[in-house]
This record gives sequence, structure tokens and C-alpha cells, in this order.
Amino acid sequence: MSLNDNNPFKAAMRQLDLVAEEIGLDKMTVKILKHPNRVIITSLPVKMDDGTLKVFTGYRVQYSRHRGPFKGGIRYHPNVNLDEVKALAAWMTWKCAVADIPYGGSKGGITCNPKEMSTAELERLTRRYTSSIIHDIGPFKDIPAPDIYTDSQTMAWLLDTYSEFQGYAVPGVVTGKPIVVGGSEGRAGATGRGAALCTREAAKHLGIEMNGATVAIQGYGKVGRSAAKVLREMGCIIIAISDSKGGIFNQNGLDPFEVLEHKKRTGSVVDYKDSTFIANKDLLELDCKILIPAALENVLTEENAPRVKAKIISEGANGPTTPEAGKILHEKGIMMIPDILANCGGVTVSYFEWVQNLNRLHWTLDEVNQKLEQKIIKAFNDVLEISTKRNISMRLAAYVLGISRVAEAFAVLGLFP
Ligand code: NAD
Repeated sequence: MSLNDNNPFKAAMRQLDLVAEEIGLDKMTVKILKHPNRVIITSLPVKMDDGTLKVFTGYRVQYSRHRGPFKGGIRYHPNVNLDEVKALAAWMTWKCAVADIPYGGSKGGITCNPKEMSTAELERLTRRYTSSIIHDIGPFKDIPAPDIYTDSQTMAWLLDTYSEFQGYAVPGVVTGKPIVVGGSEGRAGATGRGAALCTREAAKHLGIEMNGATVAIQGYGKVGRSAAKVLREMGCIIIAISDSKGGIFNQNGLDPFEVLEHKKRTGSVVDYKDSTFIANKDLLELDCKILIPAALENVLTEENAPRVKAKIISEGANGPTTPEAGKILHEKGIMMIPDILANCGGVTVSYFEWVQNLNRLHWTLDEVNQKLEQKIIKAFNDVLEISTKRNISMRLAAYVLGISRVAEAFAVLGLFP
């Protein structure tokens, strides 16, 4: 396989090979870690509002439970396919290990276009998907969460369907649910907050002043908007923001709250007042200190990486940088905070949510944010230490940390039978 193959699962396996080489992982362990524990593919017949029937394809890949129950989000997107879900499930496994929370990794998805579906259709689709994986999920088995184009409402439908089958309320079966049914304070913004905290730690290490540092953010969903808010609180100037329809730019700074209000009103950030249009591809190459890709995979490629000017890239999204681009950006001296570290704040607060559910507790926002900050600072410094000691990129260091923790768990659990 070439380094610039954009198949995300091949990219993930290539990363695993690089780590195996770096730490001298034995062949049997590598073989085990290259195979998802279980792959579920399910057909989902759904009655549409106009009376017609559509059959969607749903996936749940349970990659590893060496360190704890499976854990991972559910994505609704037209491009969802098995290799993407497998890659995301492998990354979840390593991410939970980097964050040092007691979970394995999984991921789910449905190939669909939620933008063309009504709320009622999405509800039927979600409930059907839940029922088809009902025996495979559970608070001690596999705990879903939101991802692209799924949200707390999706999790509420999932929770309700699961609880209906059990005959009692089981809040711990999902995280990222609404607070009123057992969700955690701070979960909605946790991934973006984590990406911002990692950025601050990186800036500290590099001697870059956060106050006045310019930021470009690709993607203004759950991750992008909370990263924008927290970075602004830290004194940064958000000069560009984009979504699937395009981007906006203002060298003097954009107000993240007002941009969000505009997006809620109009469906996009585009045409926000006091801004000029910027294409998504140009946003990535902007002259700025901090770049936060918070949308889709493979947006930083071999082709555009040489033109990237940011000093710190904090990967809010999963897999936004191809391996070849990663190499170029590292060689350019850019501090890359890899996805499994930069966006581990989401699953960390998901873990807090699950702990609260299992103990029937409800922590305050301050408690959650404080605990998150401690976890993120620890994870960042663990990765930085490996990167410095071994003289390797932050990305490889994060994979070394995550994969070696999973391998350690496999070593003590052993092989059944
Ligand atoms: P979301 O659905 O809330 O937002 C996605 C955003 O990306 C939207 O603003 C959308 O308009 C934009 N987008 C879509 N296609 C685009 C394109 N071609 N160019 C530019 N923007 C585009 O999703 P999210 O939860 O914010 O997830 C974003 C990324 O972060 C994904 O890679 C996801 O896997 C990752 N992530 C999310 C979480 C979480 O807690 N939500 C946790 C870890 C990682």
C-alpha cells in the first residue's frame, strides 16, 4: 500500500505498522490488532413520509474490547462505508487508550443523507438501526455516542428504543444524550474544548502567545463551534470559519456566537455580515497561527500540505490529514496535534457521563470541565514526552502511546481459548 492511499482503513493499518516498527511489537499482537473483533452490517427498511420504502445500510464495527467495553459514535452521511467505519473504530480504540479511559473502541454509521430526510424519517431510521443492533449494545457491552450529523436527539431516540426493549430506563447505554435524560453537563462542547486545550498546551510548549493568535476553523458543527468559543475565551482571534457550503473570512476576527446564530438562521456560515467568502480549500492555506480541521477526512493532502502556513494544527476531525500530508507538515516544523489526542475530549466527557449514569450522579459544569482539563493536559504531556524522547512526530507518538496501551492489555488478557 502506498502512503498516500486515501482509504482510511488502509491508512489506519499503515499507522499501526509504523508503530509496530517503532516499538518492536510482536507479529501476533499486530495481527490481532489489525482485525476488528466484530463487524455488523444491517439492512434498515424505513417507510418514508411519502409512503415509499427505502432500505438503508447500517454498520457497527466493534474493534477492540481489550481495555473495556466498546465505545464509539454513530455517523449519518452519504459517504459512510465499511472501510471508513472500520478505520474510525480502530482510531476510537487507540484514542480511548491515549485518553486513558477504560474503554475499547467501536464505531457505527448509516449510509444516508440526513439533510434530505425529515425529523420523523430520521427517528424511524434511528429506532430501526437501534433495534437491529439491540443485542450488541448496552452499558457494559458497547456504548454509542453522536458523530457527524447525529446529535443528542438521535441519542435520545436510541436510548428510548433500547430502554423499551429492556423494560426499564438504561441511561448508560448511550452518551451525548440530552441532559434531561441523563446527559452530562459539558458533553456537547467537550470535543472542541479538548482540541482548544491541546492547542493551548502546544502553544505553551512552542512559546506562542495565545492572546491574539489567529485561528482558521474548517467545519462549524459540534466540534468546530465549541473550539471557536473556547479559543476565543483564551484570547485567540478567529479569522475564518467554514461549513459544507463554504467559508467566511475577516482578518479582524469573527464572533463565534454571532456566526452560530447566523448559521442557525440561514443554514450556513456563508454570507455572515462583515466577512468575505473563502473557499474551504483556501481556508486550509490561510496565513494563521492555528488551524482546526473539524469536518471530514483527508482534507490535508500531499497536494495542499506544502502551502499550509499554520504553526499549530489541532485535528478536531477524525483523519483530516493523509499520512503523506502528515509527513510534509511535520517536516515543515508544524506542530500537528493528531486526532486521537486533539479530539479525545469528547469521549473523555462521554466516559464522565457514563460514570455519572452508573452511579446516578450529576456533576456540575465546573466539575466536568476541571476533570476534562486534567485528563487533556495529562494526555498531551504523555504524548509530548514520547515524541521528545523518541524524536518522532506527535502523531506517531500518540499512536505509540495508544497502541502500546492496547497491546499491553492484550498481553495480560492473553488469547482465548
Ligand atoms: P457535525 O455534523 O456537528 O458538524 C460537521 C460540520 O462539518 C458541519 O458544520 C458541516 O457543514 C461541515 N462540513 C461537512 N462537509 C464539509 C466540507 N466538505 N467542507 C467543510 N465543512 C464541511 O459533526 P461534528 O460532531 O462536529 O464532527 C466533526 C468531526 O469531528 C468529524 O470528523 C467527527 O468524526 C469528529 N469528532 C466528533 C466528535 C464529537 O464529539 N462530536 C468527537 C470526536 C471526533
